[in-house]
Amino acid sequence: MYHINILDLHFKGAKKVIASFLISHGDTHVLIETGPESTWNSLTIALGKHGLKPGDIDAVLLSHIHFDHAGAAWKLAEAGARILVHPLGIPHLSKPERLWQSAARIYGEANMEQLWGKMNGIAANKLVATSHQEKVCIGELTFSALHTPGHASHHIAWQLGQNIFTGDVGGVKISGGPVVPPCPPPDIHLEDWKKSIRLLMDRKPEKLYLTHFGEIAHPVEHFQMLEKMLDDWASWMKVHYEQETPIDEVKRAFMAYTARQMEKQGADENLQALYEYANPSWMSVSGLIRYWKLKEKNYI
Ligand SMILES: [Zn+2]
Repeated sequence: MYHINILDLHFKGAKKVIASFLISHGDTHVLIETGPESTWNSLTIALGKHGLKPGDIDAVLLSHIHFDHAGAAWKLAEAGARILVHPLGIPHLSKPERLWQSAARIYGEANMEQLWGKMNGIAANKLVATSHQEKVCIGELTFSALHTPGHASHHIAWQLGQNIFTGDVGGVKISGGPVVPPCPPPDIHLEDWKKSIRLLMDRKPEKLYLTHFGEIAHPVEHFQMLEKMLDDWASWMKVHYEQETPIDEVKRAFMAYTARQMEKQGADENLQALYEYANPSWMSVSGLIRYWKLKEKNYI
């Protein structure tokens, strides 16, 4: 039987913001998500606690290519691991310049390295394209790739037995706080996201593993909350989009709105800060406004 270990990568020195999952079965070791390169040190320390080095990892399964999930994949590839990702993610991982530039437009070039560390390209012979419902066998472990767009067009949730590793399509929930949907640009798609939630629920998972952060024992309630919040945030944003409120004003108002939501659900300031590390609210403003804009023009 395999073991699932949650590795805390201590992003920004905080606990329970970004996870990587180590799944071990005999001599087979698989990582789901790598975190960014900036937390490489934490990752190697966490692997060391299990008696492992990066070179012991056989394969890395990525949910998507955002830096907080995939930023350190190139280092594991250099250490020998195969990197599995949706086909649309392959060109970005082999030549990450465009990915880096588009993240720099969101976060600001000056903040990039401190937040995410470095990103180098991955050799073509280490990258494996994986699409919907493909079964991936690594040693005696069999994973199913579930294409689950909505948060990112190339998003994959990984199923192992009745466990699903949900990447970001399963939302963010930290330390018993509320469930929230991370909505960064450029791929947010409400209808796709809801379809993905349905697809995951149809699999009747017993447990979910969220990259932000950890194990969820009640998947049905979790997904219901996620869908409710997705609708709530999207309709809040639609009003401001239609009123053409200046973007900085929307960001301020949305941060105040989500802070109130958090307080109502019992999240204190410290917990709210962790949510902001994992899923900055200002970023969801850009993502959801873009969604409504594209929708109005019938582009999506
Ligand atoms: Zn993401």
